[in-house]
Amino acid sequence: MKYVYKKTAPLLISILLIINSVSLTGCSDVLSSPVTVTDFKLNTFVSVAAYTTGGHSRNELDSILEGAISLCDHYENIFSRTRQSSTLSQVNSGSLNTIPRELGDLIKTGIEYGQLSNGAFDITIGSIVDLWDFTGGSNVPPDASAVTAALKHVDYRNINLSQNDDFTYNISIPPETVIDLGAIAKGYIADRIKEYLISNGIDSAIINLGGNVLCVGSKNAKSLAGGSNADFNIGIKKPFTENGETVTTVGINDLSVVSSGNYERFYIYEDSLYHHILNPADGYPVNNGLSGVTIISSDSITGDCLSTTCFILGLEKAVSLINSLPDVEAMFIDSDGGLHYSENFIKYVID
Ligand code: AMP
Ligand code: MG
Repeated sequence: MKYVYKKTAPLLISILLIINSVSLTGCSDVLSSPVTVTDFKLNTFVSVAAYTTGGHSRNELDSILEGAISLCDHYENIFSRTRQSSTLSQVNSGSLNTIPRELGDLIKTGIEYGQLSNGAFDITIGSIVDLWDFTGGSNVPPDASAVTAALKHVDYRNINLSQNDDFTYNISIPPETVIDLGAIAKGYIADRIKEYLISNGIDSAIINLGGNVLCVGSKNAKSLAGGSNADFNIGIKKPFTENGETVTTVGINDLSVVSSGNYERFYIYEDSLYHHILNPADGYPVNNGLSGVTIISSDSITGDCLSTTCFILGLEKAVSLINSLPDVEAMFIDSDGGLHYSENFIKYVID
């Protein structure tokens, strides 16, 4: 059978950091250029860049940043759907019924977004994700009959979750139901890394988990008091480009910028594009005229949940959802490259 293969992510990230070098203005804590640690974790490229030392020596700062990156391993061991030994895999196989608070909290959040979106967002999509296999490299759509069979196991309302007095949770799911936290785990982890950095005195940093960007404070905050623009400048990637092209740039402080899009993980088979955000109604990639959604919010978990949810909902429903929520803004890229905004997104646009 003939098919055209096009390279997909992980090299693609939807948000590009525009890091200008930081000029020192006499504050010993502020670095002349950010110290950055990068690695391949969570099936994507991750980086943490500190703009201040937090009063630490360079060696101490390096080890704090390594500690931030190693939090990715810690959480991957809990949240991964594909790692057999992960806590989530044990839930999916039915061998574990009492789970740690962090996993229970994340599943609870996933269920809430299922409710908010009337099931368009559904963390029990795992049996369908397994079939499409956008990371495995086979790049051939599954048989329609397999999709129909797997769809029977998709319904977040079948997750039984209750919290215990010691904050652990009890969970049970029907056999063959597979929970997938790929749409929300990076946001949660970014928030935990931010807490960790702040607890170590780092008050100016950028965390980038494969395009999930979360800023700690403002750029070079201490040296720029009353000075020029201290925002972090974050470029929003133009879909299906790989040379750093952006559709716009936003200037933000202490906020999260998260994008979801059909250009992040995809393949082309017999001239049709198949991508990784799937419609729980039919088990096929969502096809509603959107190419990308970017959310600006305080917490990265909110941005991660909403970017995927809005992508699935489509432009009209997503705009009204975002406009009904406090303190979140969204930008939408349609498949013709047109840009659409929620009520106040434009206030962040600098270019
Ligand atoms: P994101 O890149 O945050 O938009 O998340 C995309 C990932 O979410 C996919 O790779 C799947 O793991 C998962 N996913 C796909 N479709 C859905 C859906 N309808 N509801 C919840 N998660 C989904
Ligand atoms: Mg998401």
